[in-house]
Amino acid sequence: MQRFVKSLLIISFLSFGFFNVFAGGPMLVDDITNSGEPSRWPFNATKGKWVVEVWGDPGQDAIIRRLVVPLLDSWKNVKLNLPDGSTIVTVALDIQYKGKLSDLEAYKDIGDITVSNYTLFTNVAEQDQTVTPPTVIIFDADGSITENYFAGQESEKCPKPKNCIAGFAAPSRLDRAHKVIQAGVAVLNGRLINGISNSDDGELASSTAEAEKRFQGIILHEIGHMLNLDHSQVNLEIADACSLSGSCEQGDQVVTMYPELKSTEQFILHRDDKVAISFLYPNQAFKDNFCTIVGEIQNEEGKGMQGVNVIARNVNEPFIDARSMVSGVMFGYDTANGTYHLAGILPNKEYEVFYEELNQAYVVELASTFSPLGVDSPKDFGSDIIPGPDGKQTVHCSSGGGQTISMPAIRIVSSELPQSPGESADEGASSQKKGWCSLQPNASQQVDFGSFFSYILIYAALLPLVVCRFFGLPFGKRSKYPF
Ligand SMILES: [Zn+2]
Repeated sequence: MQRFVKSLLIISFLSFGFFNVFAGGPMLVDDITNSGEPSRWPFNATKGKWVVEVWGDPGQDAIIRRLVVPLLDSWKNVKLNLPDGSTIVTVALDIQYKGKLSDLEAYKDIGDITVSNYTLFTNVAEQDQTVTPPTVIIFDADGSITENYFAGQESEKCPKPKNCIAGFAAPSRLDRAHKVIQAGVAVLNGRLINGISNSDDGELASSTAEAEKRFQGIILHEIGHMLNLDHSQVNLEIADACSLSGSCEQGDQVVTMYPELKSTEQFILHRDDKVAISFLYPNQAFKDNFCTIVGEIQNEEGKGMQGVNVIARNVNEPFIDARSMVSGVMFGYDTANGTYHLAGILPNKEYEVFYEELNQAYVVELASTFSPLGVDSPKDFGSDIIPGPDGKQTVHCSSGGGQTISMPAIRIVSSELPQSPGESADEGASSQKKGWCSLQPNASQQVDFGSFFSYILIYAALLPLVVCRFFGLPFGKRSKYPF
C-alpha cells in the first residue's frame, strides 16, 4: 500500500510564538516516559469520574451562565448510539460550574477580568507555584484581551487577531509526572457578538440570535481544548467547501474540533468529537460496548511515522459515523511512534480505514496545528485505504464490543520522507523544531503549559479574501467518497 509520495516539504521557519499546540487527539500526553498515556483532569474515586471545576469571569457572569454553562454540560453528557439504535452515556466526566471567580476569597476583589489582569490565568508560570490557580472562563467582551495576547502574531490571514481569533484555550498547568491537569483557561472573544458591525468589528452573523448560535460552536470547541482535546480532521472535503458567509450543505458533518469555525452546526458535538472525549475519559460502558481499531503508520524503513491522519468510516454512514486520530499523537514529538487508536467502533458494522495527510493550511499557514508534529507533519503523499488483518477492504468486530482490531502496519514510501523530523537534513528546520519542542519545560512536578493555547479562527464574516483561499491539496484523491 503506499503511495503518491513526491517529497516532504521542509518548512524551515514559522513563527511559533505563543500559540502552538500539541494537536489531533489529546493535546498533552506523557512525554516523560512515553507510555502512550494522555494527561487528564483529576480522577475522583468517590464519584468514579474525572472532575473539572470551572470558575467564571466575575464581570461577565450572566452571559457565561447563559451561553457557556449549557455547553459545559454537552461535554459531560456525551451519548453514543449502539447498533440497536439505543444510546448510552460513554464518558465519566464531571464538569462543574462553580460560579463567579470573585466568590473565591483569594479573588474576591478581582472584578471583571480585563487586559490588565488576565495574565494571572494565562501566564501561570509567573504565578506562585505552590498555589494551584483556578480554572477560569474569560469572556473578552471587546476583544482587547485577544488582541493583547496575540500582539506580534499578526499575519496576512489574520492581521487583527481580535477580529479573526474567536477564542483560545488550554490546560494551563500540569502535574507532568502524574499526567494530571491542574488548571485550565478559556478566553472567548465576545467582540464577535457585541452587536457592532462595521469594517473593523464584524459580527458572526447579522442577527444577534444567529451570531450567538455560531458563537456556541466556538465555546464548545474551546472547552474541548480545555479538556485536553486537540484539533481533529474529519470530513475535510465538506469542511473545505463550507464558509460561514456562504453555503455549507453538509455543515452538520463538520466536527466541533475542526481547527476553524466553518459551519453553523459546530455547536453540536459530532461522532468524532464524542469518540475523542470518550476515549480520553471513558466510562465502563464505552469500554464494554465498542471496539477499537489499532495500527501503525510506518515510513519505508519500517519506522513509525507520526503526523498522518487516520480515519475509520462506517460504510453505511461514512460521514456521520467517522472518527480520526493522528498517528503518534499519544507520544511526544519526534518519538517516531506511528500508532493510532480509532475507538468507538460499533460491533457488527463494517468500517473502512483510510490514511491521509493533514490539511497543510492548518499545519503551516495558520500555525493552528495538529499534534504531534505540527508544521513537521508529513506532506505530499496520497490518501489510501488500509486493508484489514485478512486483507479485505473493510473491518468489523463481532457482537458485544470490548474488542481490539489490530491492523497490519502500513508503510508510506518515499525516499524523501525523513525517518523522523529530527533527522531532517535541513539544519535550520531541525533547530527550529527543537526550539518549538523546547517550549516544553523539563520534567517537574509543576509545569506551566500556558504557552500551548489552541485557538479557533473565523474569517468569513470579516475577511472575504480568505473565504476563497485555496489549500492546494489533491482533494480528488483524498477518499473514495465524492462530493
Ligand atoms: Zn482550536
